[in-house]
Amino acid sequence: MEKLIELDKKHFIHPTSSIQQQQENGAKIIVDKGEGIYITDVNGNVYIDAMSSLWNVNVGHGREELAEAAAEQMKKLAFSSTFSTFSHKPAIKLAEKIASIAPEGLNAVFFTSGGSESNDTAIKLVRHYWRIQDKPERRKIIALRRGYHGVAAASTSATGIPEFWNMAGNMMTDFHHANTPYENGTDKAIASLRQVIEAEGAETIAAFIAEPVQGAGGVLIPPVNYFKEVRKVCDEYGILLIADEVITGFGRTGTMFGVENWGVRPDLLSFAKGVSSGYVPLGGVIVSDEIYNILKEKSKGTLFHGYTYSGHPTAAAVALKNIEIIEREGLVDNARKMGDELLKGFGRIKEELDIIGDVRAIGLLGAIELVEDPKTNKRFSPDLQVSAKVIEALHNRGVICRAVTYEGTDIICFAPPLIMNLSQVDSLIERVYGAIKEIREELTIVLNK
Ligand code: PMP
Repeated sequence: MEKLIELDKKHFIHPTSSIQQQQENGAKIIVDKGEGIYITDVNGNVYIDAMSSLWNVNVGHGREELAEAAAEQMKKLAFSSTFSTFSHKPAIKLAEKIASIAPEGLNAVFFTSGGSESNDTAIKLVRHYWRIQDKPERRKIIALRRGYHGVAAASTSATGIPEFWNMAGNMMTDFHHANTPYENGTDKAIASLRQVIEAEGAETIAAFIAEPVQGAGGVLIPPVNYFKEVRKVCDEYGILLIADEVITGFGRTGTMFGVENWGVRPDLLSFAKGVSSGYVPLGGVIVSDEIYNILKEKSKGTLFHGYTYSGHPTAAAVALKNIEIIEREGLVDNARKMGDELLKGFGRIKEELDIIGDVRAIGLLGAIELVEDPKTNKRFSPDLQVSAKVIEALHNRGVICRAVTYEGTDIICFAPPLIMNLSQVDSLIERVYGAIKEIREELTIVLNK
């Protein structure tokens, strides 16, 4: 372990991590293997992977079938391009499968290697869509504050968390942000969206992009009518709607895609993570029949956008098997049922402990907000590092979770594998209760309560 930590410090620049913290403290958990909902570190400690790693290991760890699908495909064909006039069976079959489970009227897929590439692709596709219809001025993108869409050029700019823009100087031009419906409610959030549209000029806007549930912003579940109102506004102004389903796709929220909860049909839907349960990097964008028809009719010559690994055969073969598992094992239904149980458990914790604010879950995507005063939702002072302490107490109890501390919040996020059973949910709840209780007791003197 010590040797690994030294090598990690010396050679490995971690994504979305503090380099200084790494140099001072070293990697804390070096993960070795996984089985079902559990992961084991190199010291043999076992944890519930309550985030499905990065919201992605939907079918759980250790699936031999997926390893076999990868091996079979690798042995048969290492790689082949899908550029120009080339194609191959795994990509064709996966595109067909995704079309068959996608919301009605979305039937054509462009493949990428992950969520950031998917959103950059969606943004470039909508701009292309307007250009080939002689409306090149429609290029602006509106997104939500606290939205997360990735770290490539356009997806960073669409992301509504300023730290991601500031890291390299600034964001691209032509990106604008409206208020999130979470906390603001539908009416105010729609008014904010309208205000941005009117200020910028509807005829200059290509698309609005949003996550059906804002994940990295702190699992922010919108009011039920929000997306219906968004759809109306988009239609009124002729703006395309992009649903970023990178987290919510493939069963996470108890429906195959998150938009199904809200009864709306987006014009484009970006996905990644759950499509392959993280076993291989894969993502993509599904476009509506209307958009595909325009592309077929008006996109002349080469579409100058493509990744070497668009439709990688091994990734496609694994994703096909992964979707087969999700369907065969009824994991979408299970996510809904277990999500209800998880939420009930959160409710019980809230009743017991006086530092819990909002608790929420939709399918197996949930959060617990820690606050100093649940009556007023007064937040803790950031100096207290409350969520960091809870995360550590959870580690000590064998649970891996993630905290969101955006703008002084203390949000503990949950997105466990969709294979959770009732006793595993109960065990998770018990450990979460124990961890928060421990920190609550530590805070007694500071809070004087
Ligand atoms: N969109 C959303 C909603 C995400 O949660 C993420 C990743 N957490 C991304 C896009 C970016 O995906 P990736 O990290 O695979 O590039």
